[in-house]
Amino acid sequence: MAISDADTLRGLRYPWGPQAAPEPGEPFRVAEGVWWLRFPMPISLDHINLWLLEDGDGWTIIDTCLDLPESRALWEGLCGGFMAGKPVHRVICTHLHPDHVGLAGWLTGRFDCELWMTREEFLMCHTLADDTGKPAPEVAIRFYRAAGYDERALENYRARFGGFGRNISPLPESFRRMVEGETLQIDGRYWQVVVGQGHSPEHAALYCPALKLLIAGDQVLPRITPNVSVFPTEPNGDPLREWLLSSARIRERLPDNVLVLPAHQAPFYGLHVRLTQIIDSHERELVKLYEHLEEPRRAVDCSRVMFRRELENDTLAMATGETLAHLNCLIGRRMIRRERDTAGVDWYSRNPQAMEF
Ligand SMILES: [Zn+2]
Ligand SMILES: [Zn+2]
Repeated sequence: MAISDADTLRGLRYPWGPQAAPEPGEPFRVAEGVWWLRFPMPISLDHINLWLLEDGDGWTIIDTCLDLPESRALWEGLCGGFMAGKPVHRVICTHLHPDHVGLAGWLTGRFDCELWMTREEFLMCHTLADDTGKPAPEVAIRFYRAAGYDERALENYRARFGGFGRNISPLPESFRRMVEGETLQIDGRYWQVVVGQGHSPEHAALYCPALKLLIAGDQVLPRITPNVSVFPTEPNGDPLREWLLSSARIRERLPDNVLVLPAHQAPFYGLHVRLTQIIDSHERELVKLYEHLEEPRRAVDCSRVMFRRELENDTLAMATGETLAHLNCLIGRRMIRRERDTAGVDWYSRNPQAMEF
């Protein structure tokens, strides 16, 4: 396929164009034995890319989409059509988010095959799915009150709590663990497990040196910066630090000439450029936040600066988590500090001792 100038955007080159997408249910061949599937989703991120790999007399599936009647119907159509009734030997999930793991339980049950995941993703996914139907815990309310939520926002949080498991078919009770650096063999080719942290606890991307491909999951997306958030389960976590370290490590470890197959948007070349852009954009946000803290502020005040708009419901929760990730990172670097007032609200301010570090 000819490559025109229009296919190069912000330093990335898209071999099939930045807006390329196969029709739902119609696999597109990206390399020998590797097929690109596009499934629609009825949420603001309106699609996911899944990967179907030829594997001996059957298939390996990578990521699965939300558990919705439409996505089950698409899989049914593929099983009876393109996949020619051949067995699925394994289902690999890059990470625990519902768009990736939603139909893993259903597919592994249907084909009586193993689910391959990293351990932290598997265990955390079970934990989060178990929250479904339970009331919001008091520590979580305290966490969002500390961030500066008013009573209305807290009430919204209570009402929405436990949504994680709603679009996930029950996960199997056992799994095949994938480990950082491990080499899988799929259809006679080697694929290395490349773990990254920050967007999720132990995200697995897969790198095939022979095909020069990286199945990237959400670890490297071309035009979206993946969400990196602090949650009430680990209020003092520093996922942004992990994310920045992971991004730098992947840039160092993998060659630049791989075709990146992301879970959202279109395949692209320019892995190193993209990782640098992602790192730089977070570093710019950190500087902006630090400058904003010339006087003490709450997390919700900082969110308005980072996201430049009023936020509510899902976008508020996402923005709060992301803001806290940046604030915790600045605390970890000893540039700012946090103090809780008598109402249980956290105030962030510059650390006068910062220069001592
Ligand atoms: Zn994700
Ligand atoms: Zn995703």
